[in-house]
Amino acid sequence: MNLEQLFSQYKESSLLGRYITLDSIEPLLNKWNTNNQVKIIGKSVLNNPIYRYQIGNGSTKILLWSQMHGNESTTTKALFDLFNVLNSDSVLARELLSTFTFCFIPMLNPDGAKLYTRENANKVDLNRDSQNLSQPESNVLREVFDNFKPDYCYNLHDQRTIFGVGNTGKPATLSFLAPAYNEAREINQSRLKAINLIAGINTVLQQYIPGQVGRFDDSFNINCIGDTFQSLGVPTVLFEAGHFPNDYLREETRKYVFMALILSLQIITDNDIVVSKIDDYMIIIQNKVVFYDFIYKNIKLNYDGIEIITNFAAQYKEELIDDKVCFNAYIVEIGDLENYSGHVEYNGNEALYHDAYGDFPKLNQKADFNLDYKVCFVNGSMLN
Ligand SMILES: [Zn+2]
Repeated sequence: MNLEQLFSQYKESSLLGRYITLDSIEPLLNKWNTNNQVKIIGKSVLNNPIYRYQIGNGSTKILLWSQMHGNESTTTKALFDLFNVLNSDSVLARELLSTFTFCFIPMLNPDGAKLYTRENANKVDLNRDSQNLSQPESNVLREVFDNFKPDYCYNLHDQRTIFGVGNTGKPATLSFLAPAYNEAREINQSRLKAINLIAGINTVLQQYIPGQVGRFDDSFNINCIGDTFQSLGVPTVLFEAGHFPNDYLREETRKYVFMALILSLQIITDNDIVVSKIDDYMIIIQNKVVFYDFIYKNIKLNYDGIEIITNFAAQYKEELIDDKVCFNAYIVEIGDLENYSGHVEYNGNEALYHDAYGDFPKLNQKADFNLDYKVCFVNGSMLN
């Protein structure tokens, strides 16, 4: 199967960029609701609908949820790309719908999506609420889990641009985890299925994004939803959509999430998850915080007459302004920055830093400055 071609054929072109809200997806859900496949299964804190889309009549049941963290929309886009495949009446669609029954919750946290926050409207991280079940959104997911009785769970997220694949210097464009089900992080039959699934996905993804797949830290935390569902005996896979060079809108990463979803379904269809692939899973290098969006090297700073040559870093904050997600670069670190890389790096060759306030950068200040009064940087980037 040509995954690149499949993606370009079925990509949902009405969803683009990072700000994906109920307004973005409701028209699409209405379109697919030809026979009551779409239902409102609960309401958020601010009384917004939480939808589930159920399709297929196969014996293997998969529960997938996205935007549990409201500002993590890349996997939501990939789900709608997958919906186009499933509704295409192609050979692949017929095979998938006869093998699987899918239960999708494309936007578990509609309030956070609107506010572009990780948390829900009560400022609770829903991925730390799987035991307390203190929030309506957590209860909705748990009820679906209890009633649908999935054979697999896919927990779909985004991760920040700071994550790299260990110390390889490559960004973690996708990361995966088979969450632990106990403190000892043992591997039982159900966790092994998740491990084998990830190992199979990774083997193929390496052809498309070599070295850009990471393995998430598997410390056990029963308050996290994946750990809870894994502990309840359902193989659960965490998908984390991350950074691809220059792809802050995550349209390139979206393609790899889509590919990973299709690959995972193929692997289950082929029953290619019975042989242990623990070794193949463990060779996936663990994620590490190693990146800043910008690093400026060999810059001369002048602290009241004392000159030093050093490095500093800037990082984008994603700020919702007038219903648009803006990437605003702020200075976040000054110093050696040993062991860190920048997605963009600039060598100042000992040029003098200067900004509107003086001759040295301050933390949390916008990354607007110049070097030797000549080369200007605005919002982190060098002006031509
Ligand atoms: Zn998340």
